[in-house]
Amino acid sequence: MYNPIIIPLSVPNLSIDILDNVRETIETGWVSTGERFIQDFESKIAAYLGVDRAISCQTGTAGLHLALRVLGVEHGDEVIVPTLTFIAAVNPVKYVGAEPVFMDCDDTLNMDLDKLEQFLQHECNYIDGQVINRKTNRFIKAIIAVHVFGNPINMQRLMAIKEKYNLKLIEDATEALGSFYLEGKYAGKYCGTIGDIGVYSFNANKIITTGGGGMIVSSSDMLLNEIVFFSAKTDPLYFFHDVIGYNNRMTNIQAAFGTDQIDRLEGFIETKMRNYQLYKEAIAGIEGLELLPFKADTRANHWFYSVIVDREGYGLDRDELLTKLHEANIQTRPLWGLIHKQKPYLESQGYRIEKAEWYEKNLINIPCSSNLTEYEIDIVMRCLNNFHKSLRRERVKEVVKERAII
Ligand SMILES: *Cc1c(COP(=O)(O)O)cnc(C)c1O
Repeated sequence: MYNPIIIPLSVPNLSIDILDNVRETIETGWVSTGERFIQDFESKIAAYLGVDRAISCQTGTAGLHLALRVLGVEHGDEVIVPTLTFIAAVNPVKYVGAEPVFMDCDDTLNMDLDKLEQFLQHECNYIDGQVINRKTNRFIKAIIAVHVFGNPINMQRLMAIKEKYNLKLIEDATEALGSFYLEGKYAGKYCGTIGDIGVYSFNANKIITTGGGGMIVSSSDMLLNEIVFFSAKTDPLYFFHDVIGYNNRMTNIQAAFGTDQIDRLEGFIETKMRNYQLYKEAIAGIEGLELLPFKADTRANHWFYSVIVDREGYGLDRDELLTKLHEANIQTRPLWGLIHKQKPYLESQGYRIEKAEWYEKNLINIPCSSNLTEYEIDIVMRCLNNFHKSLRRERVKEVVKERAII
């Protein structure tokens, strides 16, 4: 099907107002890691999330690295991570010299908490308040949980597991800024604000962007102080250094984008929820396609939309559909390659990974930008419908031909 416009998967939604902020950074000369946009952006994020304090950093990846560092994850320790996620959720484990243990996902695409519990119960020893992996004899120190595509993981259950086994919990909320719980113990609480440390990202494809950037929150002031300490090169006056710090701070230019973007976040979420509904109604009428739901008792930010392609019902398999959509100028993408199967992690331990393998083969993400128009959604839906119908027509023709031969 011919489509004259390119419909991107997920692009920034930037306001021209940002230019005034950028002008200020140029006129004042404050383009590096100090000045008012940084404080403004941190305060606005903290106020939005209902926490006392938020610490900005250079990227979400840097935020996760700092989180592991200040939580005391060290060389030779292990960290439980999902296999179904973007690789930046896992790489920081290696940065601190620790090893990942990969977990499967469930039908929400988030970490399978049944399997997590089974692993901790049956594959680990619990000695003096510490978890030891029987297979490797290493200490398991922490869990990194990702709220995949902005869909909140079951934090009530995860927090209970973390407390029972005395593990640290990092929430990778890089995709979930704005998602919160409506029911249960954490009703009203935002993803990222419940575990020991939560990390957000402002990369260009995330729900709000600063070009590149991250934010770290924690209920522990002490941990946040340490993060501030390690994120800089430390001693600013005499250049004496007791520890090896990083250079992970956000710049005033990045924050100049952020202070404007955060004001628009709720509007973006509204649009994303409305567009999701439009897709949902249209996709419900197509045999062999299923739009995955977001968790019912939450207000998810609806960052990315996931569609399952069933070859039997739809007539095309996932990869054939991807190709056809690309030919029609519609940018879609498959799920990430599972991390435990990527070259740097082939030696790492995975625990009963089954569902993630299935989703890896059958899922696509469809255009979801917060500036996506109804007109564009209509084009996507007409393509999805047409591919299905033209195949049906071809199949009917084949059947007719076969009958004629008989
Ligand atoms: C985007 C993302 C990150 C990394 O964020 P950056 O700001 O790009 O470094 C980490 N984890 C997940 C799950 C992500 O989607």
